Amino acid sequence: MSFKEKGLLVVLSGPSGVGKGTVCKALRKRGTQLKYSISATTRKPREGEIDGVHYFFKTREQFEQMIKQEKLLEWAEYVGNCYGTPVDYVRESLECGEDVILEIEVQGALQVKKKFPEALFIFLAPPDLDELKNRIVGRGTETADLIESRMSVAKSEMELMQNYNYVVENDQVEKACDRIEAIVLAEHCRVDRLIEKYIENGRG
Ligand code: 5GP
Repeated sequence: MSFKEKGLLVVLSGPSGVGKGTVCKALRKRGTQLKYSISATTRKPREGEIDGVHYFFKTREQFEQMIKQEKLLEWAEYVGNCYGTPVDYVRESLECGEDVILEIEVQGALQVKKKFPEALFIFLAPPDLDELKNRIVGRGTETADLIESRMSVAKSEMELMQNYNYVVENDQVEKACDRIEAIVLAEHCRVDRLIEKYIENGRG
């Protein structure tokens, strides 16, 4: 049987407002060879967001049904709404040898670590927390209460960095993308991913 390298599961996470969405979008624009998982959420669509493109927008009942039927790889409640990763798309892509990126908050990332310890965990860090607040305020879509609540979540989320393999500072989006691409490339060259291939060739 010939060696087939499985795809890599890349988990991009970090505090709210750090720019995970922006970095992910920039990677996409560059044509980085990654498949982008679309999450399910109970949050209402923001202006311009399209069902099936930005998220799969669900009612609470529909979301709970997905949990019961084990259709989610991970899920988390975040500032009053549920978010989760549909599992089938991820599994099928990885089996086909395609790399998948999940852009998710930190609680969900910890669950992925339990189910897929071999995944690549990248923590996107803000240059500092004041900068983070500016970004959340600047987005202009949140009320003052929600901003405070997102900031306090963000502070405790920073402590979770220790569970990750790599930390990438989001000082500039393009630089962050360069680093992520370099990390993914290096990960593909790891001996434990490839050794089987060379041993098989040797035998052949
Ligand atoms: P937003 O409401 O701003 O789109 O997203 C809020 C947070 O939910 C962000 O930190 C985003 O990364 C996270 N998020 C989006 N999709 C998922 C998901 O499928 N699972 C988890 N755990 N978090 C998600």
